[in-house]
Amino acid sequence: MRTKCSCGKVFKAKIKRIMLDKDIQDIYFECPRCMKKYHIAFTDSEIREHNIKMQKLKERLLEDRTDMKLFAELQEMMRHHKQIMDELNDTESRCTSWH
Ligand SMILES: [Zn+2]
Repeated sequence: MRTKCSCGKVFKAKIKRIMLDKDIQDIYFECPRCMKKYHIAFTDSEIREHNIKMQKLKERLLEDRTDMKLFAELQEMMRHHKQIMDELNDTESRCTSWH
């Protein structure tokens, strides 16, 4: 994605990930000119595990779109995923440079 930094530099954001501690991972990108850091989201092992499971479910659904049980499972997983993402990211307070 192309983005514009507050310093005026337009650049293609390169997503970076860094472990903040043994579980929490910070996803961000930074401006190549002024090195300002733009926070995107935090993830933890539960969220990452979730991502993998959701990906697998989606792949199975692509093979068989008529499997309503799988579909329901995926929807439930996505709902739960959003919930844990919201909890971890606690939006407003930490995302000061992200809009
Ligand atoms: Zn900048």
